Parts: sequence; C-alpha cells; structure tokens
Amino acid sequence: MSVNYDFTGKVALITGSSSGIGAATAQLFAKSGANVVVTGRNADRVAKVAKQCTDLSPKQLTALEVVGDLTNDKDCDRLIETTVQTFGKLDILVNNVGFVQKAYVTKDDYFQIFQNIMTTNLNSVVYLTHKCVEHLAKTNGNIINISSIMSKKATANGSSPYHISKASLDMFTKCMAAELGPKHHIRVNSVNPGAVVTNFLTNTGLPKAMADKIYETVGCKYPVGRVGQPQDIANTVAFLVSDTAAGFLTGSIVVADGGHLAANVSLDRQTQICLKQLN
Ligand code: NDP
Repeated sequence: MSVNYDFTGKVALITGSSSGIGAATAQLFAKSGANVVVTGRNADRVAKVAKQCTDLSPKQLTALEVVGDLTNDKDCDRLIETTVQTFGKLDILVNNVGFVQKAYVTKDDYFQIFQNIMTTNLNSVVYLTHKCVEHLAKTNGNIINISSIMSKKATANGSSPYHISKASLDMFTKCMAAELGPKHHIRVNSVNPGAVVTNFLTNTGLPKAMADKIYETVGCKYPVGRVGQPQDIANTVAFLVSDTAAGFLTGSIVVADGGHLAANVSLDRQTQICLKQLN
C-alpha cells in the first residue's frame, strides 16, 4: 500500500530503478505526478519498468529510459545530461544502486571484490552527487541515499565490503547534508532498509527457494512479523522527499527495518548454512 503524495512538476532520477526498491520508488513517484527517469544496465528491464511508470502516471507522463552502467563515469554523465535535456531540470536524486557479494578477507580475490563493491555502492553515488549538485541547487532539491542496516552492525559472514560501503555511504549522507544545506538548500537523507524481498539475494547466486526461506525465517523474527516489501522503502523515500512532511529532516539516517536493529535479530543456524553455501 502506498501513501498519497503530490510530486506534480518534479523530476526524479532513481538509480537502479529497473528492479526491486528502485522500481517501486520510480513507480510511486510516477503515480504521484512526477516525471521519472528509469535506469539500469538491462534495457528490457528498464523498458518494462518505464512502461509501468507511464501507465501509473495520472497524466500518462512518459518515463525516460536510460540504459547504462553507473560504474562508468561517462554513463553517469550521459544519465544526467539526458535527464536535464529531456525535462529541463532535476529535483530529486535517489542513489539506490547497490549489490552484495560474499568475500572473506582471507580469500584470494577479496580486494578485487572489495573494490567492485565500493565502485558501485559508494563511488557511483559520490560521482553522481558531485555532478548533480549544480542542477539540484537550482530547484532546492533532495538527495536520498539507499543504504542498509548493515552500515550499523558487523557480521562475520563474509560481507565486510558491503558493510564498509554502506557505513561510508552514511557518512557521505551526513557530510553532504551539512555542506549542501546552507548554501544550496538541498536536503540529503538516507534510508537504511532491513531485509526486503527483491532480486538482491538471488543476484548473489542463491537459489530462489533458499532466498524465500531466508525471508520467511527472518521475517518471523522481525517485531512487525514480516520482512519488507519494496513499497515499504519507496514510502519512506517519498516521505523524506516531501518538504511538507519532512522539511526539517536533513542528514538523517532513517532506519526502515521492521524492528530488525531494535530487536537485535540474528540469523538462525539454518539461515547461516544457506548463506555459507554461497562461498
Ligand atoms: P535489486 O538487485 O533488485 O536492484 C538493483 C538495481 O540496481 C537494479 O535495477 C540493477 O539493474 C541496478 N544496478 C546494479 N548494478 C548497477 C550498475 N553497475 N549500474 C547501473 N545499475 C546497476 O536490489 P534491491 O532493490 O534490493 O537493492 C536496492 C538498494 O537497496 C541497494 O543499494 C541495496 O544495497 C539496498 N538494500 C537492499 C536490501 C534488501 O534486502 N533487498 C536491504 C538493505 C539495503 P541491472 O542489473 O539491470 O543493472
């Protein structure tokens, strides 16, 4: 279920919007009247979500499709240029792109995996933000970074590059809020999800049945009794972007995790065995 917001006249660029949390966020902005940009590396998935956005838009505004790899600076530049050329401005940047890959520090390829994760989960966000500030400053815009509760807790399950990337992202959010508020009137906030049902786990090579089992097991332990859906995170993003609802929030690291951190939920033995099979 989604809350009703009115983002008529706004232009929203959501990275990683061809799937999962990014797709749900693009759909919610489209439904709320915004012009949206749908982007990812796979053209078919981008086209599919863009069509859904156009169909959801009250005035059938055509969603812009941009296919590109955000680890490539030139693709990032093209994404911003195409957005501003098409819609004339940028109001909302949602830095959502991210992935996880297992790597214990003792593995031969640990450093390569660390670099790959940092390039996607952190460097692309830093680069896009750096390049978008001039446009967002003209609209008193908003930046939302999609982080994770894994920025706040350490685990021993071979995910240190992911934890580090998201912890760094949280500090980037706070620094940018401090820097971009006074002079440029841009608010910068972070949404840190707990487990959310997307392709995130299966993209690591985990079979879907196993991912479903993990969501079921973990969801039972969450105080709200379930894991998250992409719409839960999209709703939180929309709240933060709304100046009416959240105009006093900037530099906030907003946890949306069904109570995962509060209840100190840990994985049971069976779930740990499932995850270990990825190595
Ligand atoms: P998905 O795998 O469903 O979506 C990831 C999106 O990012 C896809 O659209 C993918 O498209 C795109 N993408 C990945 N790499 C690149 C790249 N190099 N260049 C351009 N696009 C890219 O995952 P989620 O929706 O779950 O994840 C979204 C964010 O939420 C991530 O930052 C993740 O860390 C965070 N998160 C997710 C949680 C979860 O449980 N699902 C929990 C906590 C945080 P394509 O492959 O076509 O390029």
